[in-house]
Amino acid sequence: MNSLKDFIVNGDKKIKLKNFATTPDDSISKEKIVKKTKANLEEMEKFQDKLYSEGKEGLVLIFQAMDAAGKDSTIKNVMSGLNPQGIDVHSFKQPSGEEAAHSFLWRAIKRFPTRGKMAIFNRSYYEDVLVVKVHKLYETAKMPNRCKQGDIIERRYKDIKNFEEYEYNNGYRIIKFFLNVSKDEQKKRFLERIDLKIKNWKFSSSDLKERAHWDKYMQAYEDAINATASEHSPWYVLPADKKWYTRYLVSEAVLDVFKKIAPQYPKLDEDAQKRLQADREILMSEENS
Ligand code: AMP
Ligand code: MG
Repeated sequence: MNSLKDFIVNGDKKIKLKNFATTPDDSISKEKIVKKTKANLEEMEKFQDKLYSEGKEGLVLIFQAMDAAGKDSTIKNVMSGLNPQGIDVHSFKQPSGEEAAHSFLWRAIKRFPTRGKMAIFNRSYYEDVLVVKVHKLYETAKMPNRCKQGDIIERRYKDIKNFEEYEYNNGYRIIKFFLNVSKDEQKKRFLERIDLKIKNWKFSSSDLKERAHWDKYMQAYEDAINATASEHSPWYVLPADKKWYTRYLVSEAVLDVFKKIAPQYPKLDEDAQKRLQADREILMSEENS
């Protein structure tokens, strides 16, 4: 497992999460990867500028993972290469009263960027088939019984798949990252959050409670990935035990999708070009005041 293509899930076959690595191969050099990531971030900025200028396609990057898998720091790294004016980041927490009183995609739709812009979702509507599935939270949701009968989670997978296709048909691309951290590495990072004062704020006892459901979460992720991966909206199941490697693969995936979008600066027609030249002359003929 050496390049991005080893980690793409596009729906052509069912995957098993246990077959995906959480660490890079030993043969991979950190030094080289860090250099490549830096170059990728620079290339991303150029693409983003074109995307914005053209205003035709919107791009949404979804990050999902267990606690301490590195969502925040990966997002920070992606952002470091981009123009903040063309991108919004949103973290999806436990739904507010208003959010819970709407259908589950509502709060994500509200956060969709205008075409030409990007959005990063730290968690997303996938929580509604992950934490909601693991804890059967739908049982206590204020909804009519008909909505809870049968397999609500299966129905939501379909809703998500249709929704992502709908967005694609309206000029959006949504790509989804699962940061695949091992249970051992999560323990290490939790201990660090407990032991290091400056990291205490990142830890909550509820993180431990979720850890106790590790296997159920892995099953929920595997099922959600298999049910919602598609050619236009693939999942990337990325090794997350080494942050420098995760960052690199994310940058590769973002570049890949930019290449598919292939944004171009708008070309001016002849009249507009003439106007530009005329404006240039006006500027040049100004007297120095
Ligand atoms: P964090 O990302 O660590 O700040 O935590 C946010 C918490 O909100 C996580 O425990 C998520 O599982 C939880 N959360 C996000 N979306 C939902 C949802 N739709 N229903 C229930 N819990 C959610
Ligand atoms: Mg948390």
